[in-house]
Amino acid sequence: MNVADSLRVASALEHLGYHPTPRPEEAQVIVLNTCVVRQSAEDKAYGRLSSLRPLKQQNPGLVINLMGCLVGVKGYEKLQKRFPYVDVFSPPSDPGPLIAFLTQGESQSLEQAQTMQRFALMDGDLVLPQDEREKLVASFVPVVLGCSHACTYCIIPYRRGIERSRSVGDILAESRALVSQGVKEITLLGQIVDRYGKEISDGPDLADLLHLLHEIDDLKRIRFLTSHPNWMNAELLDAVAELPKVMPHIEVPVQAGDDQVLENMKRGYTVADYRALIQRIRQRIPGVSIATDIIVGFPGESNEQFQNTYDLLDDLQLDVAHLARYSTRPGTVADRRMQDDVPEEEKMRRFRLLEDLQEGIVARINATYLGASVEVLFEEQVRGRWRGRTPTNKLVFVETDQDLRGKLLPVQITWTGPWSMQGRLPGSFGNSQPLENLGAITQITHD
Ligand code: SAM
Repeated sequence: MNVADSLRVASALEHLGYHPTPRPEEAQVIVLNTCVVRQSAEDKAYGRLSSLRPLKQQNPGLVINLMGCLVGVKGYEKLQKRFPYVDVFSPPSDPGPLIAFLTQGESQSLEQAQTMQRFALMDGDLVLPQDEREKLVASFVPVVLGCSHACTYCIIPYRRGIERSRSVGDILAESRALVSQGVKEITLLGQIVDRYGKEISDGPDLADLLHLLHEIDDLKRIRFLTSHPNWMNAELLDAVAELPKVMPHIEVPVQAGDDQVLENMKRGYTVADYRALIQRIRQRIPGVSIATDIIVGFPGESNEQFQNTYDLLDDLQLDVAHLARYSTRPGTVADRRMQDDVPEEEKMRRFRLLEDLQEGIVARINATYLGASVEVLFEEQVRGRWRGRTPTNKLVFVETDQDLRGKLLPVQITWTGPWSMQGRLPGSFGNSQPLENLGAITQITHD
């Protein structure tokens, strides 16, 4: 979501005449877009923010904009006191305060006119920043903003505000605009994306939206994340199964494999419900890949309860597990009413056990691709190798002199590992040596 938000800020800044620079000391404006979902992310944001202070001292004209979940939607007085060198504070997904600040020197009516004009550009008709135009292959389109579910561990509803679905018109206009600038794959985003449209009783839902997006001519692939198990209905699974452009990949977090822990998290389903859902998904979408999220060390999680999570993951053999150690978040129900009583070393031990388990599972699943021909959409070159994804969202690297950006090609898989695969284009004799460590390739959250 932050990547999507940052792209919109970059687009707005470019409309005001700014250009990107890789060197912070050269910048006239620095936007720090922040995440606070876990304490480690918040610490990182504070670290980066502090590192900007000397730049502001050297260059008092520098505009520093703090954006995102560190700011939240409920006021930022404390932050303002603590970081007086920050010029602008923006809630998540809102470039408005920065645009208003940068145009404030102009007369009020002109400023208002410009802000409105830029908002018109932001909403629906997104113009990609120049260095992304005709280069960005896969992009994100937020469709549900905020979240109203209030899982007891989660800070997002407090920082991103209540759930709101964007209008179909805005989403289609933005998607068409992205496609006209070279984008081939769109991932629809929402904290609970399968609740799209639910706050409007007779409005379109996510399945309807997928059908509409499917009509966009040059759009090749559509994905969506993250789904909540309770809202994955038959129509949605039908849409994934029947629409060729909608990829067979579902991100549906379980969070824990024990009913009492799920109840304490207020997730609203049982382990049996989740197992039944995975079975339904697999029956309806043959060859589907499934990703889950798991939190270890939730307050009160006993060894036995953790073992239930371990056994569930072992049983279900899912393609991806995003693992996280529980981190207490201010203001959440878990923070106010529960004791963060699983020691850090124990959280780490549980994390490592799941990590090892999942690595073996994914290695075995990926090995089934060996020798197969799969369709890969290529995105970019990384250290001399072209990087793309299979329909099931597996990373594939191909060594070739050809420019593969944005191409959808069959690839024969010649090597597989837990985090990536390697392949060759038909008729070529590409490198088939294993790629052990390509960096930036991880399916597990390490923080
Ligand atoms: N809205 C999605 C959901 O929960 O279904 C994902 C949102 S969140 C950005 C991504 C993941 O962070 C969650 O699925 C959860 O596993 C993890 N997470 C959220 N709050 C956490 C906390 N307090 N401690 C550790 N992990 C957390």
